Amino acid sequence: MTEGSPGQQADVVVLGAGMVGVSAGFAARQRGLSVIVVDRREPGSETSYGNAGILSSGSIFPLNTPALWKNLPKYLTNQHAALRWNMPWAVANAGWVIRFLASAAPSQTKPRAVALNGLISTSLKLHRDWIAQAGASNRIRETGWLKAWRGDGLANAKAEQAALAEYGIKSEVLDRQAISALEPNVIPAYSVGLLHTQTASVDSPGAVVKDYARMLAAGGGAIRRSEISQIVPQGDGWRVQLADGEIAARHVVVALGPWSAELLQPLGYRVPLAFERGYHQHFVPNPARKLLRPIHDADGSFVMTPMEQGIRVTCGVELTARDAPSNFSQLETVVPLARSVTEFGEPVGERWRGARPTLPDSLPMIGPAPRHRGLWLAFGNQHIGFTTGPGTGAAIAAMIAGSASPFDTQAFAPSRYIA
Ligand SMILES: Cc1cc2nc3c(=O)[nH]c(=O)nc-3n(C[C@H](O)[C@H](O)[C@H](O)COP(=O)(O)OP(=O)(O)OC[C@H]3O[C@@H](n4cnc5c(N)ncnc54)[C@H](O)[C@@H]3O)c2cc1C
Repeated sequence: MTEGSPGQQADVVVLGAGMVGVSAGFAARQRGLSVIVVDRREPGSETSYGNAGILSSGSIFPLNTPALWKNLPKYLTNQHAALRWNMPWAVANAGWVIRFLASAAPSQTKPRAVALNGLISTSLKLHRDWIAQAGASNRIRETGWLKAWRGDGLANAKAEQAALAEYGIKSEVLDRQAISALEPNVIPAYSVGLLHTQTASVDSPGAVVKDYARMLAAGGGAIRRSEISQIVPQGDGWRVQLADGEIAARHVVVALGPWSAELLQPLGYRVPLAFERGYHQHFVPNPARKLLRPIHDADGSFVMTPMEQGIRVTCGVELTARDAPSNFSQLETVVPLARSVTEFGEPVGERWRGARPTLPDSLPMIGPAPRHRGLWLAFGNQHIGFTTGPGTGAAIAAMIAGSASPFDTQAFAPSRYIA
């Protein structure tokens, strides 16, 4: 890690060392560019630390599809574990809410699913290469991801399987016996399951980001720890102002996850970025109830993943201001449900809160800032940024190098929201 050396220079400065920023840095370095990645914390310490660790092949349908309209009456009660929202925030951000709901129109589903499928499948290939290259293959589990219903979920499971199959994504519908064969240690609480067979998971998302950052540094890239205060156009490049100095660069990549919009405001960009907050808590695993893969409890609206630190229970979405005080009620609702399946022990460590960075159409911004040469935007990866970091980074690096992106990035153009 580079400590406060003033007056550094690089071809590319990446702002943010989450999964997206580290991936962009690594991909740019692979193209022979000199790279500095800057973050105020250790790589992978924020949203890319606290997620459910799923490298998801099947997350091509975001939260705002026509199903959201169907579920809206139950979400409006503000009691459902899947989605809670803060009324004053919703009023103040009515424009974002309306655009988010408008993106749930049936005509919007297929184009976004096609776009996300391209981004996800590229990302999964890269993860599988990079994790081996980083010497971290021990962290990845190729055991899939099980979505499971306690009640009668057969029609839902079959519909989801058919929808995924349209995009070539494989899954298997399981009955109670097949679920028990797959996860022999858990209590047979589920009557139907859908196993996403091409999905993988990791046992420590933050550690994987750190492994990728080490791989970047070993290949000649630099990681610098500092607070970024400003980015300023300078000549035909940029000056990045830090708490302890500055960096001059031809290209700047903004990969600050949920903090991305603020730094762009002084340049005249008003990015409609909102925050789907989420929480996690770890528990001492019960050796007799060992989980072999992440389970998404569809009726309970939570995910439990076996992690290095214990069983990580993550909960649904809380739509509110990024830095509003924590409200653990969703987590408190789902923990007893999770415990009833795996009978885990005491909590380990503190409860964690993070914010999924989300644009109204639930697609990330991947591409050039409309009015500034050499300024690249790589954020808004909502529920799947741990999965899609490598594809996002590879596309940005290709654009910087003037090469073709490994997948079609048209749907992700920043110009759809900012001019
Ligand atoms: C509960 C939950 C579960 C999730 N589960 C999954 C999952 O299973 N699979 C999946 O693919 N995705 C999942 N996600 C989504 C995923 O975690 C995010 O989309 C992803 O981590 C975003 O990565 P990022 O690099 O854009 O942002 P971050 O990881 O947040 O990185 C941004 C970085 O910018 C730095 N930064 C910000 N401002 C400054 C500044 N001024 N100066 C210096 N540094 C700064 C921060 O320190 C941070 O390190 C989940 C999210 C949540 C909340």
